[in-house]
Amino acid sequence: MTATWLITGARPLGGDPADVLVSGETIAEIGAGLDAPGAQRLDCAGLILLPGLVDLHTHLREPGREDAETVASGTAAAALGGYTTVHAMANTEPVADTAGVVEQVWRLGRQAGRCDVQPVGAVTAGLEGSRLAELGAMADSAARVRVFSDDGRCVHDAVLMRRALEYVRAFGGVIAQHAQEPRLTSGAQVNEGEISGRLGLTGWPAVAEEAIIARDCLLAAHVGSALHVCHVSTAGSVEIIRWAKSKGWQVTAEVTPHHLLLTEALAAGYDPVFKVNPPLRTAEDAQALRAGLADGTIDCVATDHAPHPLEDKETEWEVAAFGMTGLETALRVVHEALVEPGLLDWAGVADRMSARPAAIGRLSGHGRVAPGEPASLVLYDPSPREAVDPGSHASKSRNTPFAGMVLPGRVVATFLRGRPTVLDGKLAW
Ligand SMILES: [Zn+2]
Repeated sequence: MTATWLITGARPLGGDPADVLVSGETIAEIGAGLDAPGAQRLDCAGLILLPGLVDLHTHLREPGREDAETVASGTAAAALGGYTTVHAMANTEPVADTAGVVEQVWRLGRQAGRCDVQPVGAVTAGLEGSRLAELGAMADSAARVRVFSDDGRCVHDAVLMRRALEYVRAFGGVIAQHAQEPRLTSGAQVNEGEISGRLGLTGWPAVAEEAIIARDCLLAAHVGSALHVCHVSTAGSVEIIRWAKSKGWQVTAEVTPHHLLLTEALAAGYDPVFKVNPPLRTAEDAQALRAGLADGTIDCVATDHAPHPLEDKETEWEVAAFGMTGLETALRVVHEALVEPGLLDWAGVADRMSARPAAIGRLSGHGRVAPGEPASLVLYDPSPREAVDPGSHASKSRNTPFAGMVLPGRVVATFLRGRPTVLDGKLAW
């Protein structure tokens, strides 16, 4: 149910305070001293107003691993984090490699209703890397899939990768690659370097990521198609993407909140909450990722929200699952890692967390706060500094690496097309 809302005193994109009148599903008016008799008023003095966030990389786990997350719990977590759209990765059980499965996920998202769910289709059948999935049927389905990824696995066969890039070119799709050369990362556990040696864990070399990214940039250029690079984690990867963009090739990239803020040093305590794919890297890598996001070489922040039940994480490092949750902390982490040091302003945050990921996902109606646009919005209080409390999270899983870490900010309210999904920092319904 939507109504008329008058949001008063918030700062659109961190600029001067203004009032925003939301009528039905759209932004009707933005200005000073607006009046709207009968409207529900929301006093937002001091809050930052951003377009609803868009995540290109979420693992909702449904169908198949509803013990870790469901579409309902994951979209509740997304709303609490300020998201209005998430792209649901294809590595479910069954794999989202047919029109039937992507339509199932898309429908579950519509039923949940707190956040749009845009399914990502698998590139290869069963994520097995041997033949292409039904890319055209998924694109033509009700879910209108435009982003395809075998995420969790790398499309390492160069011929298959070439064919996938060629196939999606016809309908303006994009292949999102999880760049991990499998032979170079066999048994890998942590970033290859001094710490992996000290811990006696198999190292994960930067070149395993960089070699695939370089190859895929060349393939994308060769066939004139669009490549998106998932979770860039090394300084070398940033350099390769910068070079590919300088050529004018259709290459885009994302970075996760955890790779922006955390480093491999955290692995030294052997706590598997810090075990992730790709691994946490060095402080120099994190610095290069922040600089790359700030200068636009890396297009956007994507959470790679990867929920796991306790029994899969609270175990020995070498058998623990890879992955971290991220939807409910992403905006606060970006605030800490980029806004606080002055690398990005709030308009930049809106670009990297809403407008650009929406463009890469081929979605319209996202990324702008303007009259006539859909009223999908987030209101964010930048002033508090509080410890992250996983107990307050809506995700069914608790594997956040930020637990107990003091971070700035708080999502106060989220609107999805005029309807509040979050009010006063809590689910609105
Ligand atoms: Zn991945």
